[in-house]
Amino acid sequence: MNVFKNFILTLLIFFFFPFTSLSQKNLHGPSLNGKKVIYVYGGMKGHSPKESVNLFVPILEKEGASVKVFDNFSVYEDEKLMNEADLIIQIFTDAFTSDPRMNNDQFKGLRKALVNGTGFAGWHGGLGDSSPNPLYHFIVGGDFVTHPGELKEMKTAEYEVKIYDKEDYITNGISDFKISGSEQYYMMIDPNVKVLAVSEFKLNNWPTDENEIKGSFMPVVWKKNYGKGRVFYSSIGHYLREFEIPEVLTMQMRGFRWASEGKYHPKENLISPIYKK
Ligand SMILES: [Zn+2]
Repeated sequence: MNVFKNFILTLLIFFFFPFTSLSQKNLHGPSLNGKKVIYVYGGMKGHSPKESVNLFVPILEKEGASVKVFDNFSVYEDEKLMNEADLIIQIFTDAFTSDPRMNNDQFKGLRKALVNGTGFAGWHGGLGDSSPNPLYHFIVGGDFVTHPGELKEMKTAEYEVKIYDKEDYITNGISDFKISGSEQYYMMIDPNVKVLAVSEFKLNNWPTDENEIKGSFMPVVWKKNYGKGRVFYSSIGHYLREFEIPEVLTMQMRGFRWASEGKYHPKENLISPIYKK
């Protein structure tokens, strides 16, 4: 049934995207046409890593990207492929603690590629996890803490994603929208990343009544640099069905396009300190 549902979702997205979701202005924005993409998937099955390949690779290819797919991190040690890559998409929950996991040499290869201008992008736990690697968190710009609420509360809960930066290519023209019955990520975030969308915690305390988080606002979508490389992250996407929301898919694809262009443009200054006086 799930396979069938994913198939239908792929068909719907394949035929209606990107024609229905791009404004005229963005037709001349960043592009995946001719770009080399490495797609690494794996980790917790509950995040549908394999199914995400089936969903996204056809869309990326339709936009003209050449995509190589891997179910482990060995490609990060392949200097030739990493040198050629314009974008690495990583949907691999708990990259440093899963089996297989990213070893030191692979992490070094990833960093080298980003320094040279390869982009790094993904969503939810596939990129922003709670692994014990502070430098990895620094690269991504944040790490996962929790998704407050019991499963039964989450099933009926709803949170609103508010566009914080309306001028950026990735969020331009996107309206605020709601996510229902899924995980709202509470994260630890570098206060210098360029935040594009946020959400408010309205329902829950965490971990128990001893601590209140009601009224907290949390970045949901952001961008930053690592070296010349462009990094894009969105915490939405526990369930793949969330990409049926046009705003979610549009932002994700724009994030991929933007992150794939680090080698072709002068580095943008994306340091956006919120505590600067
Ligand atoms: Zn999740």
